[in-house]
Amino acid sequence: MGEIRGQQLFLKGFYKEQVLNRLIEAYAKTYVLCKICNKPDTDIQKEGKKNFLKCQACGAREEIKEK
Ligand SMILES: [Zn+2]
Repeated sequence: MGEIRGQQLFLKGFYKEQVLNRLIEAYAKTYVLCKICNKPDTDIQKEGKKNFLKCQACGAREEIKEK
């Protein structure tokens, strides 16, 4: 019994970790990674109500569109 419970706990923990990783990935894609060159060398610039992702690597500037 203890072993099965342990496995269920392990699976739950694993699942949560996967979800967390996906959230981090989604966050990174929206707020960190440059849409053009895919590098994370970016700054967020606020301009009025809009946010822009300015890439230091290639100089691209993309509006951040939140879902
Ligand atoms: Zn770039």
